Amino acid sequence: MNLINKIKNFETLDLMQKANEITLKEHGNQITLERAIFLSWWCDKGDCLFCYMSTQKPKIKEPEKARRNINSILAEAELCRRTDWKIEFLSGGYGSFSTKEIRNISQNIYRITGEPVWLNIGITKDLESYGDEIAGITGAVEVANPQLHDEICPGKSLEDITEMLELAGELGFQKAITIILGLGETPDDLKYLFDLIKGLGIDRVTFYSLNPHKGTIYENAPQPASLYYAGVVAATRIKFPELKIITGTWIDNLANIGPLLLSGANGLTKFPLFKMFGTRYGKRVEEEVLWAGRGLIGTFSNFDKLKESRKIDPQLEPFIKRYIDKCIK
Ligand code: SF4
Repeated sequence: MNLINKIKNFETLDLMQKANEITLKEHGNQITLERAIFLSWWCDKGDCLFCYMSTQKPKIKEPEKARRNINSILAEAELCRRTDWKIEFLSGGYGSFSTKEIRNISQNIYRITGEPVWLNIGITKDLESYGDEIAGITGAVEVANPQLHDEICPGKSLEDITEMLELAGELGFQKAITIILGLGETPDDLKYLFDLIKGLGIDRVTFYSLNPHKGTIYENAPQPASLYYAGVVAATRIKFPELKIITGTWIDNLANIGPLLLSGANGLTKFPLFKMFGTRYGKRVEEEVLWAGRGLIGTFSNFDKLKESRKIDPQLEPFIKRYIDKCIK
């Protein structure tokens, strides 16, 4: 089956059916809720054409103030543990925290959740400093067509991302990439993505759909069509049955979730957790998973789990309370 032609010929339903069979056979029917934990609202690069950070860089005069309080980061990790959310990765703009600081935060999160942490902290060669607290390294590829990549993300070359992931593999870490759909790519560009996944032995891909930010060139661009998104995910699943696939869905596109799950997604991400928890939007995510015939690990609505208390560092308490109050409001 030529997967790319299937997408181009609008045969998405065929792809989804095949992808669904493969997913159930290889992965079972459990779906995770994934949360990227941000370290900072600053990025040294700030030049990716779609990125919110690119609109903020000129406004931020004191980057150190854009760093998050570490107790707030750890409080978020504790709430993920309570609600059975997976931490997709720690994500930081370039130049916001040192390697030593990131390692320290990761070790603390590992202690809290009992699970090693994935990193998505930009291109770095400084991977030997990390140990058992790290599960894997993520390369933020965004768009796999090399020419488009250079135009859209001029500050982070594909070669450097590739080198980092090769090094990560040599050091025994798992490897992930992120891809954004809707940046101007075409179905034919999937060949670059497939080559990348195969060539680097990628373990996990996170797909996002474009979120058009005000002040960027994509401000008035449409988000990718639901069936195009589903077709890309389904083709990727068919090509790589064992790959873990996470799909990002914004709060304004929750109806994408069912088709994405049937196309092979193992996890869902990109939700504003505290804003959606216990609301009709959070419950809608649960319904989407239910009606795709999948089981959900993690909750968007169980307040008892959110409030479950246990002995933790007292410094985290006020931050935890603040997050829970946000959910209850
Ligand atoms: S490197 Fe990442 S955070 Fe920085 S501008 Fe590009 S996409 Fe945004």
